[in-house]
Amino acid sequence: MKKNKTFCGFSKDEIKENLEDIILLVNEPRYICRKCARVSNTGDRLCKPVAMGK
Ligand SMILES: [Zn+2]
Repeated sequence: MKKNKTFCGFSKDEIKENLEDIILLVNEPRYICRKCARVSNTGDRLCKPVAMGK
């Protein structure tokens, strides 16, 4: 999987090809993208990350 590529920028095929890696990066989500509603364990994989939680 490409470094620094955001989940937001993935195409349907890229998601399919990298699904197992993606699962490891979203299984304990702490950030949500306020543009795309995707979630991630780390903010650097989202285009507009916002920390979730209290
Ligand atoms: Zn996004």
